[in-house]
Amino acid sequence: MARARAGGRSGIGRCCPATMIVCVPQCLFCGIAAGDIPATKVADGERTLAFRDISPQAPVHVLVIPRDHYPNVAALVAAGDAGKGLLDELIAVAHKVAAAEGIEGSGYRVVFNTGPNAGQSVEHVHAHVLGGRPMTWPPG
Ligand code: AMP
Repeated sequence: MARARAGGRSGIGRCCPATMIVCVPQCLFCGIAAGDIPATKVADGERTLAFRDISPQAPVHVLVIPRDHYPNVAALVAAGDAGKGLLDELIAVAHKVAAAEGIEGSGYRVVFNTGPNAGQSVEHVHAHVLGGRPMTWPPG
């Protein structure tokens, strides 16, 4: 999916013309990125944002999102140049969050749920950063 700018696909536009952020008005995580929906932020970057999951599944459970709207990993990969470097950045921020949360040494899990079988419930690509307890494998 090519990333849409203002005037592109219906329902997608710039939240902020100055920053050219691409958002979907009804998207929960676009709302958090825009500051319209409250969240406990732990890292605030130009292209990415990290905030605590509202329903933590581990002592540390942080979500890392791009500010621009991509529904899932597949869409971000398909965006090519439009999303260039964003996946790298999401992983780099996930690692920084893990280090800041003190779980770099004990270990942590970074998960991108993508699509229904993976249990993705919010259609704005996000990395879960989970840690602070031993985890089992395979996941349920
Ligand atoms: P997924 O099921 O992989 O799409 O993950 C979506 C995550 O978003 C879940 O772990 C939810 O607990 C979390 N979540 C939903 N609403 C909020 C919110 N308002 N603030 C923070 N996290 C949220």
